[in-house]
Amino acid sequence: MATTASDSADDDTGDRDRAAQGRRMVWDLIRGQRLRYAAAITAMAVGTTFLLSVPYLLKRATDAIARGDADLMHTVVWAAVGVVAFTAADGFFTYLRGRWAAQASEGAVRGLRHQLYSHLERLPCRYHDQADTGDLVQRCSSDVETVRVFLAAQVVEIARVSLLLAVAVPIMLSQDWRMSLLALCLVPVIVAMALLFFRKVRRLFEQVDESEGRLTTVLQENLTGIRVVRAFAQQDHEINKFLERNGEFRDLEYRLFIAMSNYWTTSDLLVFTQIGIVLVGGGFFVVQGQISPGTWVLFWWLLRTIIWPVRHIGRVLADSGKATVAIDRIGEVLAEPPESVEAVPAEPIGGAITIENLTFSYGNDRPALDGLSLNIAEGETVALLGPPGAGKSTLINLLVRLYDYEQGSIHVGPHELRTINRDALRDAFGVVLQDPFLYSKTVRENIVIGHTAASDAEVESSAHAADIHGNISGFADGYDTVVGERGVTLSGGQRQRLAIARALVKDPAFLVLDDSLSAVDTKTEARILRALARRHGNRTTILIAHRLSSTRLADRIFLLDQGRLVQAGTHDELMAVEGPYRRLWNLQGSLEDDLRHDLAEATSATPRRAVSEAQRT
Ligand code: ATP
Repeated sequence: MATTASDSADDDTGDRDRAAQGRRMVWDLIRGQRLRYAAAITAMAVGTTFLLSVPYLLKRATDAIARGDADLMHTVVWAAVGVVAFTAADGFFTYLRGRWAAQASEGAVRGLRHQLYSHLERLPCRYHDQADTGDLVQRCSSDVETVRVFLAAQVVEIARVSLLLAVAVPIMLSQDWRMSLLALCLVPVIVAMALLFFRKVRRLFEQVDESEGRLTTVLQENLTGIRVVRAFAQQDHEINKFLERNGEFRDLEYRLFIAMSNYWTTSDLLVFTQIGIVLVGGGFFVVQGQISPGTWVLFWWLLRTIIWPVRHIGRVLADSGKATVAIDRIGEVLAEPPESVEAVPAEPIGGAITIENLTFSYGNDRPALDGLSLNIAEGETVALLGPPGAGKSTLINLLVRLYDYEQGSIHVGPHELRTINRDALRDAFGVVLQDPFLYSKTVRENIVIGHTAASDAEVESSAHAADIHGNISGFADGYDTVVGERGVTLSGGQRQRLAIARALVKDPAFLVLDDSLSAVDTKTEARILRALARRHGNRTTILIAHRLSSTRLADRIFLLDQGRLVQAGTHDELMAVEGPYRRLWNLQGSLEDDLRHDLAEATSATPRRAVSEAQRT
């Protein structure tokens, strides 16, 4: 669909609103630490007062020397002691400032990390479908780190520079206005240059961040799919892709480095020019007798105290530019509306599933489900059949509210699905996916994930029903064997069966096997289905499978195609009429016969060929 100018203007406004809302959330977290920040800023103010008192001591001592006072030694010694004491006091308060600012920033960032992570957990699947994982990881790690640095050092530093200027300028003016003009003439230029620079590099910082996100995505996809990359000999292609992203990142970092170097060089030049102006101009005024040597030292020392932090403000502002970008990026995630939270129903969730005129689209042109109506009685075992893309998994996604539909209805027992609390609903379902996710934990921990209070007997009984107990007993550490990241130490079939045990241990009202026996052989599949039937009690079971030999065990079979129901009934009913189910059954039967025939031929031919080849050599 073409986007109009008003659409994109609406999008821009939406993005801006979201960023502003997110920024408010981040600032709320910071506000929670205001007492610690107040303490840090107070310590900074006290330390700065000591620091700004040092030039006064130096002025008194210098003037005493210039005048050749009688108690010269006394004045000089006390000035020296004062300088050491005041500098030490400044050091002590700087330590307190750093400590309290670190406590405040760590507290705020801990809250931020927690809020971000728990928010990501509550964001709808639609958001995660479109989100770039590498980019999200970057927002949760390096963007949060940028905010931490900003809160730990830059907030207080900006306050310090403001205070230094607010105190030093009136002191200078109270001493001599001409010297003040000389001492401050380049300061506005230095600050203006810093501000301009900060604006210019802001976009560059954004580009560097985005590029780093792309780099992380490539890396993350590669590491998670390393086996696929190897299996398809795609290493060179992937290395080149990484090289390209790496080069793009390097170029942007390089541009940033050059911009920063130019800034430092120019601002250094301005700072030294400013100091030179005070030294030369002040010296001239002293020779003219218009100011005392002590005043000259005071100006020089005051300027030296404020000019480096003022010059550093460019860096601080540049970094705070980076931090505002990071805050906006984090804010965008925080402003995404999370899944709704409905009240938990008083009675346990169960009963018949009634689906009426259900239409759902992932946002593509073609709906994944199109006016689907069917019902599943409580305790029934049904099979969903259909070609790839028919909408079988989509129906399961809707049943456990991974996505919400807009048209049609689903009732579970008396409740409309969208009124049921998601956690309570998912608790009532045991869903086993084709490629289940296992954690790098022990077998037992993987099984009890949905029901951590399960006893050993319950774990073993579920493992028996899933036909995996024998395998687990054969492992060196039995149920305490660690399965490796994503279950890499297990075969595909073992992973699937472990996931079935995991679903069964919850004793759910609804069990869904979404093509989750595809990696086990037919005999094992039949054994598992029989064991499930024995345990099944009042449980409703939804079976998605491609082998008709297993789906025929279901009470009823639903045949879907292109999101629509095309046939429904028992195996016998469907076989009794001419239609897609009977055609599928006959086709699969003849394919299996052909396969059996080919295998028989191959096994009988192999020894003969081996013998004749042995005779030839
Ligand atoms: P299979 O037997 O291959 O698992 P299926 O019958 O389970 O297929 P679904 O996974 O439900 O099919 O997919 C139905 C349609 O929805 C397909 O056209 C698919 O491309 C699309 N689809 C599925 N998941 C998404 C998603 N997250 N985003 C966009 N489109 C999707």
